[in-house]
Amino acid sequence: MGIIKAENVTFEYIRRDEEGNVEGITTAVDNVSLDIEQGQFIAILGHNGSGKSTFAKHLNAILHPTEGTVWVNGMNTRHEEDVWDIRQTAGMVFQNPDNQIIGQIVEEDVGFGPENMGVPTKEIWERVEESLKAVGMYEFRKHSPNKLSGGQKQRVSIAGVLAMHPKCIVLDEPTAMLDPNGRKEVIRAIRALNDVEGMTVILITHYMEEIIYADKVFIMDKGKVAMEGTPREVFSQVEKLKKLRLDVPQVTLLAYELQKKGLPLPDGILTTEELVQELLDLKNGNLERR
Ligand code: ADP
Ligand code: MG
Repeated sequence: MGIIKAENVTFEYIRRDEEGNVEGITTAVDNVSLDIEQGQFIAILGHNGSGKSTFAKHLNAILHPTEGTVWVNGMNTRHEEDVWDIRQTAGMVFQNPDNQIIGQIVEEDVGFGPENMGVPTKEIWERVEESLKAVGMYEFRKHSPNKLSGGQKQRVSIAGVLAMHPKCIVLDEPTAMLDPNGRKEVIRAIRALNDVEGMTVILITHYMEEIIYADKVFIMDKGKVAMEGTPREVFSQVEKLKKLRLDVPQVTLLAYELQKKGLPLPDGILTTEELVQELLDLKNGNLERR
């Protein structure tokens, strides 16, 4: 079993009227199964309302499956006595950094988590330093979070989670409220955590270009896993992605259109560099690879 395992997870939101009678049921997660290994970079992608956040809340025992089971590091999220341990194992970062930062000074904010866990003071400071360095925010440690940009604030929120030494970090649309620069900063920091620190990352997003570095991608639609595979496998299915109302990156679309017009390009081109290289190879008649 991996660090996170979900087996046939279904979750229903039940709406009740004032008397408590059931008015309606929304099946937000519908029979989802996945198994995530320690150290993997996983992306969960999907249009608004596809069930991503509802699923994410299961990884932290905020919600419990209506049917099915979730294990975090082998602990069943239904077991009340493990909730604290589960939340420490799978740290969560949410969309809005303003709701997550409470300290007046960056380093204090990052220290809150370990302090609440009862970590000895000297170790708290070590953790604060190492976490801020991991997201490239160490030089801002004495700053007031209010003065930071959105991307910087979000990196401080990530550091706050890292300082609790989770095995796995779950980020629910951490870039949704950021400008393009902030988004890049945050994605770069997340990639470094995975690459350098070996942290298991579960990135939930609706931006397709953020998933190209993932080891594996799950695409959700109407609560179900509609597609799964490597980024290249997923990006190879342009028509299906369009049906799922996902914005396929320009370069992938362009390559796809060129391919349709008869250029012998491979499926699932992810970056401009790749397309340029493929076109140069074609121009130079370097076709041995195919
Ligand atoms: P996503 O994060 O992919 O946008 P959500 O998990 O937020 O999707 O929502 C999935 C479905 O569940 C949607 O139909 C949404 O309207 C519904 N939903 C989400 N939160 C609640 C809630 N607290 N009560 C009732 N329905 C909800
Ligand atoms: Mg959401």
